[in-house]
Amino acid sequence: MAGYGRLLRVNLSTGDMRQEDIPDQVKKDFIGGRGFGAKYLYDEVAPGVDPLSPDNKLLFVVGPLAGTNAQSVSRWMVVTKSPATGTFARAVAGADFGAWMRFAGLNMIIIEGKAEKPVYLYIEDGQSQIRDAAELWGKDTQETQEWLQQAHGRRVRSACIGPAGEKLVRFASITSRRRTASRGGVGTVMGSKNLKAIAINAGGRVELHDPDAFKEVVQQQIEAIKANPGFSVFRDSGTIAGIWLTNASGIYPVRNFQEGQLDNYEGMVGEYASLTKRNEGCYSCMIQCGKVRSVPSGPYKGSSDGPEYESAWAFSGTIDSSNVESTIAADRLCDELGMDTISAGNAIGFAFELFEKGILTQRDTDGLDLSWGNHGALVELIGKIGRREGLGDLLAEGVQRAAERIGKGAEDYAMHVKGLEIPAYEPRGAKAHGMSFATSNMGPQHNYGYAGQELMSIPIPREVDRFADEGKGDIVKFNQDFCATFEVGIVCVFPFLMYMVTSQSLGQMLLAVTGIPEHGDPDYLGKVGERIYNLERAFNVREGFSRKDDTLPKRMLTEPLKKGPSEGQIVRQDVILDEYYDVRGWTRNGIPTPERLRALGLEDVTKDMEPFVK
Ligand code: SF4
Repeated sequence: MAGYGRLLRVNLSTGDMRQEDIPDQVKKDFIGGRGFGAKYLYDEVAPGVDPLSPDNKLLFVVGPLAGTNAQSVSRWMVVTKSPATGTFARAVAGADFGAWMRFAGLNMIIIEGKAEKPVYLYIEDGQSQIRDAAELWGKDTQETQEWLQQAHGRRVRSACIGPAGEKLVRFASITSRRRTASRGGVGTVMGSKNLKAIAINAGGRVELHDPDAFKEVVQQQIEAIKANPGFSVFRDSGTIAGIWLTNASGIYPVRNFQEGQLDNYEGMVGEYASLTKRNEGCYSCMIQCGKVRSVPSGPYKGSSDGPEYESAWAFSGTIDSSNVESTIAADRLCDELGMDTISAGNAIGFAFELFEKGILTQRDTDGLDLSWGNHGALVELIGKIGRREGLGDLLAEGVQRAAERIGKGAEDYAMHVKGLEIPAYEPRGAKAHGMSFATSNMGPQHNYGYAGQELMSIPIPREVDRFADEGKGDIVKFNQDFCATFEVGIVCVFPFLMYMVTSQSLGQMLLAVTGIPEHGDPDYLGKVGERIYNLERAFNVREGFSRKDDTLPKRMLTEPLKKGPSEGQIVRQDVILDEYYDVRGWTRNGIPTPERLRALGLEDVTKDMEPFVK
């Protein structure tokens, strides 16, 4: 079948490697990308598996469009059971590793077991080898990629972990160039398997079902992107303009989610612009939203491919600092160590608040002064977390586990859902976005149900009042399923959120590549998105997750937000939860019903849900 490569299965315990065909029915029903990830994780990782044991699996997936010249569709994704949450997790990344997987004839790589000693997987000309990584262990993500290119040639592209993944920092990431699959501890699982990197040397091409139709659709896609007002914004500013947007709405979390607006935010976007040297981007993407920035002198001298909006927040709002140069240094260090910037910044904000409240003192912080605004201490703490030194060793466990160990009421200041740290949006000022965090299958993730209606006033499927609690259940569902639909491609979040790629154009591209008639139907694609979302939910239900876990931190339910245009807001969570479960066709305890599962073609899953449906 055109548009698809094979599955490479690698068992690091036994050294067995084999390629398998992906069944045609799976291609039709799940299309690719996140769909394949959800399907194989559900089928192959049994309930109760310890995420850091050899029984967990690590899936690298791409969609049918990867490696083609369609725009912004060559993203790659890592799917696993998260060591942070114990739930389904997916982390998406860019650069060109996804295209290289397709050039190697692969749509999926499944890593099983655990190597006895550090290794890397090397793939060339359809052959795979497990190689010794003793020389690579301890190197940072940039040194590792450089070493692999020196060893195997400049055509090699790799995805690797840094020291944080080796040391099982619970929010370690996987990096290709400076683009990262960050959230949920996917790099931690890779480290637990003693797998330092996957390197691919390939120069193949992707077979298309209908090359002429595809050429035409891609030309239309390029014209649509050029005509979209968001194109120049993303190309010129990247995601950093979000600082202005969220502060102006009072949803930029400050002081560990106590306040909704940062002092002096107005100048930050311009300061980032003045330090920008050039654009960077992913394979076959005309937007090139990445920005390489450079600090010319001083304690933070150096350059970074970033930070993106989320990372800029993680190293500023969390600790109430508007210092731009320190965020660039912090971003670079996090990327080199191989850590999720959001979780790292959130954990540091948590430590700063514990310091403010007297729960941590300088005796606990290795002498660091964690007073609000101290960006030097933040940068130092990042290094300590990545190396698991002193207080950093505690924070490397994430805020939920760190709070449990600290005690003294520290859990009241741990801003997480299901054990994953909350990103750069204050739920009290954007209720559908916040409840997407609360109900998400992987814990709070900004691009896993992004409420463009609330955050960017996009009136699709309708306008909403961002402060309203009532009438949000259907919006939360719409955004979550919408994201799952596009992540079969895998389409980058920015073009699909800005409607540069629509369900119609995605369908036209998929049809021309795979030739499966259903893939050209936008309604079918919407159903696939919902199918994926329900299957991920069922994975979590099997693990014991239900309504009790779909909750924001107590602070957001009881403490009115301070400062800025969203001041005074709280989230009336139960109102939205009831509506949300009803519109999903789940029980009021958050369990997918047999009727809904059957309607989505998930008949096999109904028996697994029976013990949980009351
Ligand atoms: S829009 Fe940015 S992140 Fe998305 S594919 Fe293009 S360069 Fe990569």
